[in-house]
Amino acid sequence: MIDLSKKEVWFITGSQHLYGEEALQTVAEDAQKLTQGLNEADKIPVQIKYKPVVTNRGAIREICQEANKNEDCIGLITWMHTFSPAKMWIGGLRALNKPFVHLHTQFNIEIPWQEIDMDFMNLNQSAHGGREFGFIASRMEKKRKVVVGHWQENEVQESLASWIRAAAAHHDAQGARVARFGDNMRGVAVTEGDKVEAEMKFGYVVDAFGLGDLVEYVEAVSESEIKKLTDEYEQRYKVEETLLPGGDKYQSLREAARIEMGMRKFLKDGDFKAFTTNFENLHGLKQLPGLAVQRLMKDGYGFGAEGDWKTAALLRAMKVMGIGLKGGTSFMEDYTYHLVPGEMRVLGAHMLEVCESISEDTPSMEIHPLDIGDRPDPVRLVFDATPGPGINASVIDLGDRFRMVLNPVKVEPPHKDLPKLPVARALWKPLPDLKTAARAWILAGAAHHSGFSQAVDDEKLKDFARIADIECVIIDQDTEIEDFKKELRWNQLYYKNK
Ligand code: MN
Repeated sequence: MIDLSKKEVWFITGSQHLYGEEALQTVAEDAQKLTQGLNEADKIPVQIKYKPVVTNRGAIREICQEANKNEDCIGLITWMHTFSPAKMWIGGLRALNKPFVHLHTQFNIEIPWQEIDMDFMNLNQSAHGGREFGFIASRMEKKRKVVVGHWQENEVQESLASWIRAAAAHHDAQGARVARFGDNMRGVAVTEGDKVEAEMKFGYVVDAFGLGDLVEYVEAVSESEIKKLTDEYEQRYKVEETLLPGGDKYQSLREAARIEMGMRKFLKDGDFKAFTTNFENLHGLKQLPGLAVQRLMKDGYGFGAEGDWKTAALLRAMKVMGIGLKGGTSFMEDYTYHLVPGEMRVLGAHMLEVCESISEDTPSMEIHPLDIGDRPDPVRLVFDATPGPGINASVIDLGDRFRMVLNPVKVEPPHKDLPKLPVARALWKPLPDLKTAARAWILAGAAHHSGFSQAVDDEKLKDFARIADIECVIIDQDTEIEDFKKELRWNQLYYKNK
């Protein structure tokens, strides 16, 4: 994966010369203390870089152009310590092609009731300067997040951190390569889409490969590489007896390891960040790559089954957003329902490809027949998802735009044992309830595939959608179906006229 601590967010403070050099000196000192304070907050995953206070058009344009060019800069935080007449921001904001968040804060948390005078008022004018900056950003239709509150407040830092993680995922997507092994599953509609538009909106590139390209890598895997991987499996998982050396399915485990190593090398050589597979097209592969996919997801690769490149790229973005946070992130599919009134749940799973990062316990490594496709039995990891809050996210292509649909869920342990279900799975209650959530999800046209996460929440995903400038709707505790239908209709109108 990537190292977020090497990425930078530049802290840009706006002011003007009206108040004299001494005041500007204080503004600079305050901005440095604020930057330092944010860097000391352990929830901020990148370096916040203090930049000299800007007071004129030239300096603002220059810093924005520098930010554009800097490979490590993922975006800007802007703060108006004093008033900063906003015409001077027009040129810079026009040039800026990195995302920014407007931190609407003030250095002092309290009004110093006894001491306050006009000097203090002039120096601490965020209430006033932030509005002037807000006007020009809105007038220019700049998509940005506005975070309000004292900079030392936990909620403010959390909200900044959320945006920073989304900006990091957006930065990671620029020029990122997604490999498709084969094409889409035949006849499936939702996994299709406009790859040109996707590159324009999200920044990633989707390249297709024939299975033969991958098979060459798989066949070139050495005995020692296979041994190294099978040893790792034995140490890391509860491997079923038949898959161990001497067991009658040991060859299948070796084959799974060979496929994993081949895929790893292929993805590394091409510098790919995400990939898709398709069980209808396995030319030359002896098993559906289930275990390989599970283990590559764990290492941060995005994945979409059946050629679903949009979900693969989304999952990669969610993996980046969740770096270092508690909880895992996986490709997921709404599979089957428990429709008993009062206890309705979704059982999510896939044929094989669920990431062990969401597992509660050590996964067991098993081999079972696969009823779909025409290959020998594939090896897979089997486990239950960790109970607790989670979220499902889907990105679909509506022809004239991308729409992200979000649905927070509550993951529960399975209500009973599932002794005959040979796949990793998650049981959840969607918010606000299954009937409303499924109706809304279906009315929004969201996919049966999703990015599922217990590390990333709706705020990060909304921040990501805003940065990519795509539509985003959420189905949550407050969703009323009639209002949700109106929101979809109004959005339709907005995007048709955009
Ligand atoms: Mn599927």
